[in-house]
Amino acid sequence: MNEAMQVYLSAWPAVWAMDTARYLMGATLMATILALFWKAGLARRKLQARDATAADKRREVLASLRTAFIFSLLGTIVAVGDHQGWITIYKDFGQAGPLYLVLSLAVMLVAHDAYFYWTHRAMHHRRLFGFFHRTHHLSRTPTPWAAYSFAIPEAIVHAAFVPLFLLFVPMHGLGLLAFGIVQILRNVMGHAGAEVHSAAFGPGRWLGWNNTTTHHDLHHEAGRYNYGLYFRWWDKMMGTEHPDYRRKFEAIVSPGTAAPVPAGAGNGVACVIAAAALAGGLVLAADRAQADDALAGRWVTQGAAAIVELAPCEGAPGLCGTIRWLWDPVDEKGRPRLDAQNTDATLRARPLVGLSILSGLARSPKGGWEGRIYNPEDGQTYRAIVRRTAADTLTIEGCVLFICQKQVWRSGSALVAALR
Ligand SMILES: [Zn+2]
Ligand SMILES: [Zn+2]
Repeated sequence: MNEAMQVYLSAWPAVWAMDTARYLMGATLMATILALFWKAGLARRKLQARDATAADKRREVLASLRTAFIFSLLGTIVAVGDHQGWITIYKDFGQAGPLYLVLSLAVMLVAHDAYFYWTHRAMHHRRLFGFFHRTHHLSRTPTPWAAYSFAIPEAIVHAAFVPLFLLFVPMHGLGLLAFGIVQILRNVMGHAGAEVHSAAFGPGRWLGWNNTTTHHDLHHEAGRYNYGLYFRWWDKMMGTEHPDYRRKFEAIVSPGTAAPVPAGAGNGVACVIAAAALAGGLVLAADRAQADDALAGRWVTQGAAAIVELAPCEGAPGLCGTIRWLWDPVDEKGRPRLDAQNTDATLRARPLVGLSILSGLARSPKGGWEGRIYNPEDGQTYRAIVRRTAADTLTIEGCVLFICQKQVWRSGSALVAALR
């Protein structure tokens, strides 16, 4: 028996034990957190109406244990490669230093996310799906136990990443250990079935570039969207993010989601917002060019009732308008004003601040811009026609069938600056 084979056989039991333990500990930790905090709030963050059955969980555990075995068979090659000098794993901390440790870990996670996105997307090709990826998607309502629930061919694809990466980038042993921990934690969080990320992970928030449970759960529920593992970058760049992701995440983490919404809550401000929305009482800085993005920016509605930000829509063409600020953001009981008149009862817990009320504004062949406008006063969506009638004035017409309401508002750009 040659030396490489001996190294392989002596290293394998420990690698297998580590891969298996990592899965069992990660999934058990997540399942325990779900059980402990279910009544305290996680039940209200449950993402699907369906419950995973005991048979689902049994299938997920068995497939995951098989994957851990496959991972160890390929992972042991890393130990041999290190012994033979094909790859470099630093043992001595002084050799690379803490900065290299952190940077190499970051590079590894970014590379793994790219590797995962593209192999995952390829495995969704109709010719490859059945052979590689169907097993993972047997979990329509995933649980933490689904973390490694892959068919053997898919397990091999995932297992290949670490040896391939190490061919190009030398790592410290601690960096590899940290990678393994981050990988399993992000994995079980994505399959938790109830949103376990805080509101700070919401799109547009400071941690919004990360994936959330809602993000990956939508992949299991709907397929064809949200292929990324850790980050939203690839899905956003390639236009594969689920169009409802932002709405669903915000609805599930915003306070008062499960509380019954009192009738009429937010009505007062809804009237003002609706007037603002329908009339488009917004102000534009005078020096803006007449380009397509000429409407982009923050606009103050008449009476300074609200500030609406017009910006390119996320993952869709045209401009979208979002309420960024309200003169009166809470009701008489101090609760945030909500989208209480929405015709879809599941959306009534959305706060008005952060609500998108204008969407898909694009240049119209008839002049001006055309898009859709949502009126929180009656929960209806109308066709919107936006025109710039002077350097610092917009008019917005909201039209239902043949009846259009048109208003013209003006203000000074100084007001915009003062309220920003
Ligand atoms: Zn998939
Ligand atoms: Zn999954």
